[in-house]
Amino acid sequence: MKVDLHVHTNCSDGVYPPLEVVRRAREGGLDVIAIADHDCVEGNLEAQDNPFGVIVLKAVEITSYIGPDEIHVLGYFREFSDNLKIFLKGIQEERRGRIVEIISSLKKLGVSISEEIFFETFSEARTYTRGHLVFYLLQNNYGSSPKEVFEKYLKDFSVPISVTPADAIKVILENDGIPVWAHPVPEELNKHFDYMLNAGIRGIEAYNGRRGVTEEVSREFVKIAKEHNLFVTAGSDWHGHTKDYNLGDFYRTEREVGGFLANFIQL
Ligand SMILES: [Zn+2]
Ligand SMILES: [Zn+2]
Repeated sequence: MKVDLHVHTNCSDGVYPPLEVVRRAREGGLDVIAIADHDCVEGNLEAQDNPFGVIVLKAVEITSYIGPDEIHVLGYFREFSDNLKIFLKGIQEERRGRIVEIISSLKKLGVSISEEIFFETFSEARTYTRGHLVFYLLQNNYGSSPKEVFEKYLKDFSVPISVTPADAIKVILENDGIPVWAHPVPEELNKHFDYMLNAGIRGIEAYNGRRGVTEEVSREFVKIAKEHNLFVTAGSDWHGHTKDYNLGDFYRTEREVGGFLANFIQL
């Protein structure tokens, strides 16, 4: 069984619509995926009844901050409750406000973005990130690479939202979900491990395809997870931006993530 527990759709900042993501998952040989969009569940719900025979676990990736440090918390659920949706709606509004602020600050730098056209361009999105602004600026010839555009215009505009990892973990637990620390790197894990443990984190995304976590680092994470009785998960964090990185290129099996999967499906 090939499993990828962390993929994105255009409900947040992924490229493809939910059903196309599932089709690509099937094409890539995946049996189980979790659509875990940033702060929204609409894309996930749309993909539940898919004709491709892929199991889609219910998940969300909540953005949070400890001071200036951005931490993502994945939540996995059997059902999305209304309370959870209301909480996410609050984040969505805060993030939209943050983007509007950035657009008006950019105006002072001579970059004129029409709010209306911007939001129309990403009409499928429920949450907005600086990634959307990068894409928009590239399309409008403000630079030739995402990195260039980000460094030139957006680097200084991190406007942390008010949610802490403890808030995110709490809302996930209260709504019968399992909170998992998304794509930590060793430095981050060392720095915030005690905080996350005290807040009630129940898993670590020990295998992650996106941020260059090596096999050796993953092994270390798995060891730490075992010591603290935490679940181990695996996710590509695939967004669909890179043509040479397809769904299915990254996966793990029940051998690595079976303990976690058993909470949701019969193995
Ligand atoms: Zn993330
Ligand atoms: Zn992600």
